[in-house]
Amino acid sequence: MKTNAAVLDAAGAAHRISEVDLAGPQAGEVLVRIVASGVCHTDQVAQEQMIPVPLPAVLGHEGAGIVVEVGAGVDDLQPGDAVCMSFASCGRCRECLRGRPFLCLDFNLLNFSGRMRDGTTRLSQAGAPVSVFFGQSSFAAHAVVNRRGLVKLPPDADLNQTAPLGCGIQTGAGAVLNRLRPEFGSSIAVFGCGTVGLSAVMAAALAGCERVVAVGGKQSSLDLALELGATHVVNRCEFDDLGAAVKDAGGGLVDYAIDTSGASHMVRAALASCCPGGSAVVLGVTGELTINVQQELMGESKSLIGVVEGDSVPEVFLPKLIEYQRLGRFPFERLITYYPFEEINAAVADSAAGRAIKAVLTFG
Ligand SMILES: [Zn+2]
Ligand SMILES: [Zn+2]
Repeated sequence: MKTNAAVLDAAGAAHRISEVDLAGPQAGEVLVRIVASGVCHTDQVAQEQMIPVPLPAVLGHEGAGIVVEVGAGVDDLQPGDAVCMSFASCGRCRECLRGRPFLCLDFNLLNFSGRMRDGTTRLSQAGAPVSVFFGQSSFAAHAVVNRRGLVKLPPDADLNQTAPLGCGIQTGAGAVLNRLRPEFGSSIAVFGCGTVGLSAVMAAALAGCERVVAVGGKQSSLDLALELGATHVVNRCEFDDLGAAVKDAGGGLVDYAIDTSGASHMVRAALASCCPGGSAVVLGVTGELTINVQQELMGESKSLIGVVEGDSVPEVFLPKLIEYQRLGRFPFERLITYYPFEEINAAVADSAAGRAIKAVLTFG
């Protein structure tokens, strides 16, 4: 079939909306009409080719939509079902079989190689293959996705809102609720007040953290953090020593810290803000980091942890987040700014500039 997609032709180029060919679903795959797609920082990383997805490509990995057609062997979805997309995993490796698809041994191949598991892509233009991203390529009016990359949603789910659950929101919320599992009354600092950071703030409040310190560089985001559950905020522009600033803001070092910025000095500050025995989590795409292991880590029995996709099993975790939202305890809709699909380049620019916390493209 023909569909409209945002094609990326070259590193750093703008997305070019044009007609592409989309092959139908093969065995185990599903054709979905996209209703909305979040714009994630990882799309931007791929657009700049710091993740070298072969070009041309159609990016986008926070899709939500309606099932149009199912391939052979898909017997638990049918046309008309509402679905949310998440990362791809193989379902057969040791980690997938242990219930940890976020550690899939083929994660990079299935999400970043530009190809589906069979080594081909369903997308093409003028007969030449176009790379798939995260096994979905949701910056398009339709996508063919492996069943394992889909989460069936309740029929009344608001697909515009649920689109970003499959990556950014589950990453922040899952780091808290799935990995750290902070005990009631504990303390946490969250560095970065974008989608991932604010999702972590909401999750920390949900988990009963007594002190939630949000660190960010923009006053409007810090104000929002306070509304979403932060008990203290630190404007990083006002301090040189952020670890000390976190300590001073709320009365002491924290049990847990999460960096969502990907900046090495912020990761180091997150580690410094932890009390002895505390844990710092890295969620951002971070380069090299130099620490004095004795003084900053081992000597105080601290942990520095990397977490991918919030340790989430999307089919288990996303319905929980939707239920928490329904109860008013996880109001992630407050992070969203909507753009028509045609304005994708404006949505990406606003995201990069911090004018939009979570840009979501809608398909009219
Ligand atoms: Zn696997
Ligand atoms: Zn993402």
